[in-house]
Amino acid sequence: MRPTYHMAIETGETTVFAPLPGDAAGAGAAAGLADTPKERRVYFEVFGCQMNKLDAEIMLEILGNAGYRLTHDPDEAGVILYNTCSVRQQAEERVYSRLGTLRRRKLREPDLVIGLLGCIAQHHGADLFRRMPHLDLVIGTREFHKLPSLIAGVRATSEKRLATELDSPLEFQRTRNFGPNRYQAYVSVMRGCDMVCTYCIVPTTRGKEVSHPPEQVLAECRRLAETGVREVTLLGQTVNSYGKRLGTAGIGLHTLLYGLEEIDGIERVRFITSHPRFMRPLLVEAMAKCRKSCEYLHLPVQSGADSVLKRMKRTYDRDYYLRVVERCRAAIPNFAIATDFIVGFPGETEAEFQASLSLVREVGFDHGYVFKYSPRPGTEGYAIPDDVPDAVKRERNQILLDELGRVQIEKNRGRVGARAQVLVEGPSKSDPAMWTGRTRDHRIVVWPKTAADEAGTFAEIEVAAATALTLRGHRVGAAAAALAATSTQ
Ligand code: SF4
Repeated sequence: MRPTYHMAIETGETTVFAPLPGDAAGAGAAAGLADTPKERRVYFEVFGCQMNKLDAEIMLEILGNAGYRLTHDPDEAGVILYNTCSVRQQAEERVYSRLGTLRRRKLREPDLVIGLLGCIAQHHGADLFRRMPHLDLVIGTREFHKLPSLIAGVRATSEKRLATELDSPLEFQRTRNFGPNRYQAYVSVMRGCDMVCTYCIVPTTRGKEVSHPPEQVLAECRRLAETGVREVTLLGQTVNSYGKRLGTAGIGLHTLLYGLEEIDGIERVRFITSHPRFMRPLLVEAMAKCRKSCEYLHLPVQSGADSVLKRMKRTYDRDYYLRVVERCRAAIPNFAIATDFIVGFPGETEAEFQASLSLVREVGFDHGYVFKYSPRPGTEGYAIPDDVPDAVKRERNQILLDELGRVQIEKNRGRVGARAQVLVEGPSKSDPAMWTGRTRDHRIVVWPKTAADEAGTFAEIEVAAATALTLRGHRVGAAAAALAATSTQ
């Protein structure tokens, strides 16, 4: 049976999952929706990071197996679920505001089941029922596999259900890929985090690090390859520390990279998010040796100042980070690096900010994200006064983004005239006459559509122009057709 696909509607703030019209199974699902009683229709909205989206995909499969169907219209739904993020205050407030709008509806429709899942649920637990009496379910980050029985429990007894055990093993094996498209899949290889970064709520909301056994991860990738997946991204909060507590010495992320080399159909492997501390030589060597491992690393640095890194408890300094980058560049040809910065961490002086700014050029990041520090209750950093004024945070944010953009465009211009292998994703959102895909080093490429273009195949594109975010080019004829043909065999 073909998998039922959904579309993830990115609203800019959140992701709403809905059946995919036009797909045979999706059309079936849509048709099935008309026959599905309201109590089995689910509206599902997801806030936050990729890990949250992947958890949501797993929940969708669990709910689908239990006979629930997705709807993108909350008014049509008998179950409304929010998978939440507590990394930033703003995201939390958005969730509370969504929930607030359901208060009256719940009075009119007492059978409606409203659930809050994920990080906020884990963090605030039963307290959420007190704050929002119309809430029925609070399910944390490790018990969502119990969703159908918890919904059934609410319906049977009209009592609220709380499931926030952090030691609970996630007993579920995924068989389907729900996104971002049918050729690219995210695979969770571990959960939780053992680090103690002072600004971060993740160790509280996701618990201690637990790695899934390599056989289990590789079996999941094999199943995904059979459904047409060509690219997998291995996910973990500190994905490159994978392997701890598995009880077998010598297992690490490198084990998975070598294992994936043997899986037919998978052509590209990425992993996020890495911690500089765990970019060990064995992993760098595996990235260099494995043909499928992409020449790309997302390695958050957070600050270029040793004093700030120390206050953040990041466990490395600027020099250590630079040596990691050097090790990767020496081993991996055409290596590209992306990063994250936080600006306005408590006590950040102008000199400390300048150290972050100078690091952008010193490393030559291919891409970067900047976040304004946001104090989170429950973190060690929350006790430290948030003393950098918001206007200063905003200004530093913009200065750093501008510098990242300048470096990025220089690096992209360096690709003009070169050829790049691209995994074809489909028509560009802004111009359907143009098609888009990504290179192995994660650059977005657009080109005029040709007859040979088919999503999920590989194309060779000659780059003719570059902006900070995009390469533009054209398909290279015969070589591209041959490559597309072999890649789909
Ligand atoms: S490594 Fe630090 S920032 Fe990353 S999830 Fe763990 S505690 Fe949070």
